[in-house]
Amino acid sequence: MKNSIKQNIQQVENRIIQACQRVGRDPQKIQIILAVKTVEAERILNAADLGYSVVGENRVQEARRKIKQMGEQSDKLEWHYIGHMQSNKVNKVIRFTSMVQSVDRMKIVRKMNRRLEKVGKTMDVLIQVNTSGEDSKYGIHPNDAIHFVREAAEFKRLNIKGLMTIGLFSDNWPKVRAGFARLRQLHDAIANQNIPDVQMQHLSMGMTNDFELAIEEGATIVRIGRAIFGERDTPDSYYWPGIDSPSYSPNRIPE
Ligand SMILES: *Cc1c(COP(=O)(O)O)cnc(C)c1O
Repeated sequence: MKNSIKQNIQQVENRIIQACQRVGRDPQKIQIILAVKTVEAERILNAADLGYSVVGENRVQEARRKIKQMGEQSDKLEWHYIGHMQSNKVNKVIRFTSMVQSVDRMKIVRKMNRRLEKVGKTMDVLIQVNTSGEDSKYGIHPNDAIHFVREAAEFKRLNIKGLMTIGLFSDNWPKVRAGFARLRQLHDAIANQNIPDVQMQHLSMGMTNDFELAIEEGATIVRIGRAIFGERDTPDSYYWPGIDSPSYSPNRIPE
């Protein structure tokens, strides 16, 4: 089990290196975040022992269950929240995470800021943008992203560190790539505005099916689940209602 995780991570690392070579980027600048929905505590810790200790969770309850199972060993890990933010879960999310990658409404910004003030913390966040061009409910419309970042930057307990997107679930690779390119353009446009308290350091984009394209378009964080831990029994629509991802096959590497 552990060996297969090791081999899978090695393969992902090799593919990252190749993608970087195609566009002249430094592979050291790409961070792998383990997308661990449905992955049990023990296997997460196996990956952590290999040096991959930043994990992204989609559901509060699931994360809390695993943290409890891990006991002190959970301290080895850094937890990011990558799931859809529900306003009634904000307090709990803040308790176990060091970064929230999926901030997509002012209601969440306000609620997070209020809570962070109360508990005397600040939090790194990414703003989730809907680049898929689809009517999905998740993420700010690209046209509204700059305005949203300006407005969110007024809330001092949130440190805006970049943008996140879930790519279009499709094997129409030019379309998938265009979404990532759009996020990169927004990232650059926002960075150019020098908004106080906004640091555009991260572009979190790319998952098992499309991380090479995302890297070619400038990703600094890729969030990988299935290519490392294998297929999930639970469909992604359980975590992202309305979104249906195609299954992974090693032969479906984007051209
Ligand atoms: C599940 C998930 C991932 C990882 O997806 P894989 O296809 O397993 O690599 C990345 N980001 C988010 C937000 C997810 O929900």
